[in-house]
Amino acid sequence: MRSISELVKNNDLLILDGSMGVRAIMEGIDQNRIQAANIEHPDVIEKIQRSYLEAGTMALLTNTFNLTEETEQSSGFTMEEIIKAAFNNARTAAEGFPDTFILFDMSPSGYSFSNDDGAFPYKKCYELYSRQVRIAKEFRPDCVFIETIGMSDEIRAAINAVRDNSDLPIMTSMAFDASGKSWCGEDLKKYAGVVNELKPLAAGLNCFITPREMLPLVKEFRELSTQPVLAKPNRGQPVHHGEITTYKMSPEDYADELYEIYLDGVRILGGCCGTDEKCLARFTEKVGA
Ligand SMILES: [Zn+2]
Repeated sequence: MRSISELVKNNDLLILDGSMGVRAIMEGIDQNRIQAANIEHPDVIEKIQRSYLEAGTMALLTNTFNLTEETEQSSGFTMEEIIKAAFNNARTAAEGFPDTFILFDMSPSGYSFSNDDGAFPYKKCYELYSRQVRIAKEFRPDCVFIETIGMSDEIRAAINAVRDNSDLPIMTSMAFDASGKSWCGEDLKKYAGVVNELKPLAAGLNCFITPREMLPLVKEFRELSTQPVLAKPNRGQPVHHGEITTYKMSPEDYADELYEIYLDGVRILGGCCGTDEKCLARFTEKVGA
């Protein structure tokens, strides 16, 4: 099996998975216990991950999004226990799919605005990410996927933490609204500055907006970035009917819009919030993967 680095450097197609958090909630998981669900409901996490591989995706992200000090404390489990269970679940889901890449998911540290003076607490953030990487590397992920970040300083802390504690390849992804502002108010240029300096294997955008909304931002980011670009957009706004959440955008429409980003030349693609195996299956079909 080729390494993920070889695949990306060759500009070959890498189809990532779809949403985990929203899917888990739809399967009845408490939204405050999605990390704990690795241990409490491994069958649910495995079922969701397996559905993506059956749809033709080539990689799974571990269910370790939002693994902060706060969620560790409220879960009643240690970070070690959660990360170990998350890798077990992904490996179990990938049984029968031997070419699956397992990506360790790292997300906002929870420290973005935690200092009274407004300064970014780099050291705290770096230490949290370092701790996560030291645990995760024992489970030999193919790559570390740093996602839904709002601040380029946090990207810097995460990349440095991964490099100081492992030799794992890194992909980074920041979340921007349709106007091109991250949830911490940064723009693509600032993000590209960090990416071009630290050169992760790939870098791009995820969450918040639909593929169609993301396309112009992706085009702009490709101009700015020296690194291969990735995109993992959302499926538009959710519609709530009491307990039930649905999405107006059909899997076909989602796949058609994601395909436009593919046609633009992006080769690392997947789905974020609200996407499901049907969205990814339809996209896989379109690209003939
Ligand atoms: Zn998302």
